[in-house]
Amino acid sequence: MDIKNFSRVSWSDEEILRISAAFLACTRDAVIITDLTPRILAVNPAFTKITGYAEAEVLGENPRLLKSGRHDRAFYQAIWISLRETGHWQGEIWNRRKDGKIYPELLTLNTICNEQGEPTRYLGVATDLSQFMKNEERLQHMAHYDSLTGLPNRLLLEARLQHTLERASREETRAAVLLIDLDCFKTINDSYGHAVGDALLVAVAHRLRTRLRQEDTLSRLAGDQFVLVLEALHEYLESEILAGSIQEAMEGPFVLQDGNKVYVRASVGISVYPQDGDTAQALLIGAETAVHRAKELGGKQFCYYTSALNVQARATLAMEEALRLALEREEFVLYYQPKVDLRSGRIAGAEALVRWLRPDYGLVPPLEFIPLAEKNGLIEVLGAWVIREACRQISAWREEGLAEIKVAVNVSARQFRGGALEAVVAKTLTHYAVTPSHLMLELTESMLMEEPEEAVARMTALKSLGVLLSLDDFGTGYSSLAYLSRFPIDQMKIDRSFVNDIITDPGSATIATSVIALAHKMRLGVVAEGVETEAQAGYLRQNGCDEIQGFLFSKPVPAEEFAALVRQGARLPGPEALRQSRTLLVVDDEPSILTVLQRVLAEEGYNLLTATSAREGLELLAKNPVQVILSDQRMPEMSGAEFLSRVKVLYPDTIRMAMTGYSDMATLVQAVNEGAIYKFLGKPWEAEQLRDQIREAFLYYEGIMVLRRDCACLKATP
Ligand code: C2E
Ligand code: CA
Ligand code: CA
Repeated sequence: MDIKNFSRVSWSDEEILRISAAFLACTRDAVIITDLTPRILAVNPAFTKITGYAEAEVLGENPRLLKSGRHDRAFYQAIWISLRETGHWQGEIWNRRKDGKIYPELLTLNTICNEQGEPTRYLGVATDLSQFMKNEERLQHMAHYDSLTGLPNRLLLEARLQHTLERASREETRAAVLLIDLDCFKTINDSYGHAVGDALLVAVAHRLRTRLRQEDTLSRLAGDQFVLVLEALHEYLESEILAGSIQEAMEGPFVLQDGNKVYVRASVGISVYPQDGDTAQALLIGAETAVHRAKELGGKQFCYYTSALNVQARATLAMEEALRLALEREEFVLYYQPKVDLRSGRIAGAEALVRWLRPDYGLVPPLEFIPLAEKNGLIEVLGAWVIREACRQISAWREEGLAEIKVAVNVSARQFRGGALEAVVAKTLTHYAVTPSHLMLELTESMLMEEPEEAVARMTALKSLGVLLSLDDFGTGYSSLAYLSRFPIDQMKIDRSFVNDIITDPGSATIATSVIALAHKMRLGVVAEGVETEAQAGYLRQNGCDEIQGFLFSKPVPAEEFAALVRQGARLPGPEALRQSRTLLVVDDEPSILTVLQRVLAEEGYNLLTATSAREGLELLAKNPVQVILSDQRMPEMSGAEFLSRVKVLYPDTIRMAMTGYSDMATLVQAVNEGAIYKFLGKPWEAEQLRDQIREAFLYYEGIMVLRRDCACLKATP
């Protein structure tokens, strides 16, 4: 400051000195004078106040004792360069007080020169900015947050929402904006006064916060309107569940200061990025429109901006409400599907499958409500009910004198992770005095592979209760073999999708047989599910599968029907019965050959028909359903090839084979080429080889039948 020219008044040197001293004493800025070393020559009282150093402590010291450590060397070098070249520097700088606290200041440095213009001193004047910055922060906060609830306000909401939308666009995900508007808040505000209204809004904000996930942003838009932004929306259902949860949070009275209780309900309007707009404003307007619609519907509702979504949502909502009630009203039943031992053909146990007897709807299959129950959390209650009901049934069957029946129940992912499963199982087993090994839990591969380490721990805990564990839908997930061997399971279930075309698709067949081999290597039982045909059962039996489950033996049936099956001793036709239904016709003009053949095939269990001539053979074919025909080639009346060519036309489904001792090649080749003959066998034959060939012919026949049925199904479905 050039005091000499201050306001064009001429001052005496003495006056100047006095004024300078007074100024230095009373200013709130710290003043510091150094020589060129620089060593501190003088500081004012404000310096002491700001830095905490007394004058005596700093005189003769280098000002670097105030260094904060926040700036690098280049920063200080720049200051010195500026001072040397321009005689001046100004900027914000972080310094350190004596107590170690770092603070910001605005520092102005000047070089003071003598009359010859040579620098002699440095003068520093510093304004402490820390208070100022705090105010700035507060201002910032005031601009972005609602002072009543402390929630982000519209300004910040829009900024954040825009940010969310940009991310959603980059990551190609959806986002939802939920506008929450309190029903009849105005009435409360008017009748109880604004102070009560304000207190209520604070309480509402508090309840809303309890329903959010960490990543959700809640803001207050205005008055009684709040906004929630849902990022990375995978399914619409998520926003519906949240809307439901918000409404639920409002249930229960808000108690006012005077002890009065008020009730608040919330309407929710939902807009979704991208279909309802791609800017924050557009989505907020959409949500606002939707919330008005929700109010028109009578409040305590939610509405989408896009009306098509409302239709779907209403149905889901209705289903959800009905589901909740269904538990109270005991509308669920368990059906039981037998698991059958492939060796004995006897019932080995049952899988319990839940059904919902929804009034006015009939029997609802689980795939229509389990996914919903899984999402809204009802599955934990429902799942616990299933376990209790299955155990109750096991004990009821035992009382009825039925041999104790093993029942498997399905466990959902959420139920498995929920934490209550172990306790529910333990309690239920004790309550119904069920032998733990008679209860099996079916866990799907996919739910175990999500968090395999945790899964191992949970399964181990369950196993320690003595129950059995089965790996359901095996082959559809992505089990790593490393984990598979660590899962303490007792059984694997080959998924229905592989069983379905096990006879026709080599890929499915390989998977199925590999699973069987793998399970047996790990000393686990293996069950194939969805077995519908004898051919499938036969194939699985031949490949060593232990049990099957499927429509071939029985659909899932009510408990009484299942008990009846057990009482009757219902059995899956064993291999003998299966072969009995296989009819083989052998035609040869030499009776001795027929006798030998009868002997060779005696153990195979076929229904064996013999004929000594083509004519006799045709007669037998007319009277009996025959699948495989073996004919001699050289016969007096009609050659084998000719006989089989006729049969081909009459009974195209039959598998036809010729035997010949002579190399009567020309005719035979022709017959084969015309499709009249499937194979020809040389005479004399090896007994074992012959048996193999005939078995193969029957399997071939059964394979064709399955194929044909599947094709028919395909044609039938448009
Ligand atoms: P899942 O565990 O794979 O059950 C087997 C499904 O295959 C059952 O369908 C059963 O009726 C059906 N099925 C059995 N044999 C055959 C067959 O030969 N052919 C055909 N096409 N299907 C057959 P359902 O009862 O509709 O159950 C479907 C799914 O719902 C079950 O699949 C299971 O994941 C779930 N589920 C059923 N009950 C419960 C339960 O109590 N709790 C849980 N969490 N999920 C359940
Ligand atoms: Ca299952
Ligand atoms: Ca399954």
